[in-house]
Amino acid sequence: MDHCVFCDIADGKLKAKILYKDEKIMAFYDLEAVAPIHFLVMSRAHIVSVKAINKENSSTVSGIFEVIAALAKKLELVDGFRVVANSGKLAGQTVNHLHFHVLGGRVFEWPPG
Ligand code: AMP
Ligand code: ZN
Repeated sequence: MDHCVFCDIADGKLKAKILYKDEKIMAFYDLEAVAPIHFLVMSRAHIVSVKAINKENSSTVSGIFEVIAALAKKLELVDGFRVVANSGKLAGQTVNHLHFHVLGGRVFEWPPG
């Protein structure tokens, strides 16, 4: 496997502004925010992208969504927020370690660009 920057964050080898951490899941602020609130929630174990979700790891994915709901509440994203998982080259995925962007604090267009 190629070097993975999010595995480094999961292992504590690379610093991040952490919002949440347990044995399986981690949430931290995106380094290049594209909204007033922009954080990422990921599996600490390496999963490549949405295409690699399966019966063995899907309980971690549902846990990720529980964390998203709790953090959206904690950060008072009461008027709405967007959850995005770029999956693969055409979608613009740049880090091949499954993560969900949570974006809030502004209006989001639909359909996205
Ligand atoms: P994606 O392009 O959907 O794969 O998302 C990757 C995201 O990770 C981008 O929004 C980057 O700004 C963000 N990112 C890359 N490296 C770091 C890092 N070390 N800490 C926090 N966010 C990062
Ligand atoms: Zn990884």
